[in-house]
Formats: sequence, structure tokens, C-alpha cells
Amino acid sequence: MNLTSYPAEPFRIKSIEPVKMIPREERERVIREAGFNTFLIPSDDVYIDLLTDSGTNAMSDRQWAGMMMGDEAYAGSRNFRHLEETVQDIFGFKYVVPTHQGRGAENLLSQITIKPGQYVPGNMYFTTTRYHQERNGGIFIDIIRDEAHDASLNIPFKGDIDLTKLQKLIDEKGAENIAYVCLAVTVNLAGGQPVSMKNMKEVRKLTSRYGIKLFYDATRCVENAFFIKEQENGYSDISIKEIVREMFSYADGCTMSGKKDCLVNIGGFLCLNDDDLFAEAKELVVVYEGMPSYGGMAGRDMEAMAIGLKESLQYEYIEHRVKQVRYLGEKLREAGIPMIEPTGGHAVFLDAGRFCPHLTQDQFPAQSLAANLYVESGVRSMERGIVSAGRNKDTGEHHRPKLETVRLTIPRRVYTYRHMDLVAEAVQSLYQKKESIKGLRFVYEPKQLRFFTARFEEID
Ligand SMILES: *Cc1c(COP(=O)(O)O)cnc(C)c1O
Repeated sequence: MNLTSYPAEPFRIKSIEPVKMIPREERERVIREAGFNTFLIPSDDVYIDLLTDSGTNAMSDRQWAGMMMGDEAYAGSRNFRHLEETVQDIFGFKYVVPTHQGRGAENLLSQITIKPGQYVPGNMYFTTTRYHQERNGGIFIDIIRDEAHDASLNIPFKGDIDLTKLQKLIDEKGAENIAYVCLAVTVNLAGGQPVSMKNMKEVRKLTSRYGIKLFYDATRCVENAFFIKEQENGYSDISIKEIVREMFSYADGCTMSGKKDCLVNIGGFLCLNDDDLFAEAKELVVVYEGMPSYGGMAGRDMEAMAIGLKESLQYEYIEHRVKQVRYLGEKLREAGIPMIEPTGGHAVFLDAGRFCPHLTQDQFPAQSLAANLYVESGVRSMERGIVSAGRNKDTGEHHRPKLETVRLTIPRRVYTYRHMDLVAEAVQSLYQKKESIKGLRFVYEPKQLRFFTARFEEID
């Protein structure tokens, strides 16, 4: 397989949504009004929106047709049956609990599996995942391989769990004090880095030996499967669907954000094999989400998700998806822009630490870089660094992630290669005047998940 050949879009465009760029003086006003937080910019003022790949997917004609087949009955919707059968077929789990989005599933899983004081090791944290684990008394421990924290190291499968770290945690704390192991495919905050099948097998073996449960964060599992097919020995002739099935054969269940690899705009689910855990999840889903046959989704949304899941497994789709992201990464690498290597499945991550060496991490370089990129070009990106990491619950200190990054996240099936060219040009032009990027300080800092709504001002 050729890593640098880029397939044309495997679709033609049937419906369009115009975009426009507002003048620079207006963008300067907009970013000030948004408190230098790209989450607070009105979408109408954005030219190319790379804030997130979450819920920003373009649906196919088949999915839109499916929307018209929504069965909006309060209970027993046929669309749930379709979704349930599809998820069981693809992932191989016994039970499916629908939720309004991924964090709804994380809430349920955390409540039914974590006893206060227990450890929850995982391959790097994710914001909402860790929040729910901690809210239920869990202590998150990062057991991703060390190389994941080295932004410039270009090696495959940087998302793997370090088995020595997991073994050490078991030895020190005791298996009974570990709620479960959380394995994310791919690892969002490490740059969308995939996990190898070999690692999944080994983690299963180790956890089984101690009777520890293993749950996946399945959010970008199809992107992960593509990397396995492309780069892991023995998988080049195996279909994406079979790879996904094998990946999940090593897990006890998973949480899924439908807003990513399911190719829809909203939704999620929790999968389980254990009868007792399923009984508990079913009782809780009624409290937080809705009936076990809709869990916060409309019938039409479940139909679109069932169809989207099947489409996501088509090779032409996923090859274009991952390679379009890689194309942007390649352009930036050629221009000498510091970024996380290698390019992951859903985004290109700029290394703000090296982009803005004149700023300390306490001056929020990634937050400021994202704000400045918007002013430069109308391109909206997102901070993934110290602001996203939040504060330690006990000490009140900032968590200090080694990776201080700006994420350029590519929505699925939305933009073309030419849009990627423009983004690359914008980043390059900002890089040429990088010393003009000023540090920031908080003027408003929310207590939870602060990156969503925090406001900042520039330090002179
Ligand atoms: C988006 C995301 C979630 C949470 O899902 P939502 O649908 O946004 O609630 C969990 N884990 C990862 C890795 C994600 O990217």
C-alpha cells in the first residue's frame, strides 16, 4: 500500500452549504468578543471549521432516506432494533444501550463499574471520560507508552498501552483496586494515534490473568482499523469489518460516541457482555437518557446511525478519510511546521510548544495559537494542551500535559483537498510571524471542562 497516494473523494456532491470568509478586522473583533476561545466563535464567522470532527459529519443520501423511515414510538422503535442488530453484528457484543452521545455512555459505565478509590488506567486521558471516572470516585492513571508523549517521534501505533506500566500498577495497588482498563482506539489527545492489534491481544491476556475488565473507548475504531490494515503485519488482506470485529473480541464492552466514526451528527451507545452490568445499565439509562430503546436519540437518528456504521466500514470511505487527514499533515511537514508525528486518523496536531517557543506553558501557547490562526485565516481549530487538561481535583494545580497542541480536526466527508491546501497555507503564513503571537491569561475559568467556555485576554 502506498502511504502517500491520495484517492479522490469517493463520492459526488448532491447538496452544498456555502461558506464565506469575513474581513480580517471583523475576525479581530470576533476573537476578542469570544474571549480568545475558538469554542465561543459563532459558526457563521468561520470560513473552514476544523474545531472538531464530532457531530460535523456529512451524511449520505442513504442516511437521509433512512431519516424519513424514523419510527418515533416511545417504546420498541424498529430503528432501535436495526441499530442493535447492526452494532451486535459489527462489534460482537451481546447488549447495546443507546445514549444521547458518548459521554452518556461514559456516565453509565463509570457509575456501574467504579467504586470510590479504585484506579482506572487508560491509554491517555480524554476530557469527558476522565471527568465521569473521577466523578464516580475513580483515579485515572495514564499507562500509554512513553513514546506517545514525544511529539516529534514518527513511529506506528503510538497509542499502545505500556504493559509494564499496567503490570506495575496491578502489583502495587492490587487487581481488586482496579475498576477496569480503558483502552481508546484511536487516542484522541495523543494525536489520533492508533493501537495495534498485537497490543490489544496482550492487554486482554494480562487483564484476564487478574480478572480485570477491559472496556474500549470505541469512538474512532474504524480509523484505528484502517491503520491496522495498512501498517500491521498480517492484516493487509483482512477487511475493515473483520479487523473491527477482532479488535472488539478482546474487550468486555465499549462506549461509543456516534458523532465520530458512526457518520452521524448526534448519538452514542454502550456495549456490554455481562448480564448483571447490563441490568444495572438498563436501570440507569432510564434516569439519564431515556427508554432502553432510544436512550436520548430520535428513531430517525438511530436509523441514520445504523446506516452510517455500515458505510464507515467500506474501504473506499475509510481510505479517503485517513489519507485526506494525512495529506494536510504532509503539506505542513514539507513546510517545516512543528507538529505531532505521525499524522493520526482524524486530525493534524500542531506542536504549540515548538511553534511558540517564546511563550511558557502558563501563558497558554496553544490557546493563543488557535486564536491567532482564526484571525489569520478564518480557520477554526482547538486547543488541546494545558487549558483542556484542567486542574488536579485535590491540589488545584494545573494538570501539565507534555503535549501542548492545537488540533486541526477534519470533519468526515465535508471538505476537499483544496480546502486542506488553504489550511496549510494559513498555518505557514502564521508561522512566518509566530513571534507576534502573545500569551494569554484567564478572565473567566469554569470549574469543570474549562476549555469549552473559558475566556482569556492577551498579555502585553
Ligand atoms: C468525543 C469523544 C468522547 C465523548 O463523546 P461525545 O459524543 O462528545 O459525548 C469520548 N471519547 C473520545 C476519545 C472522544 O473523542
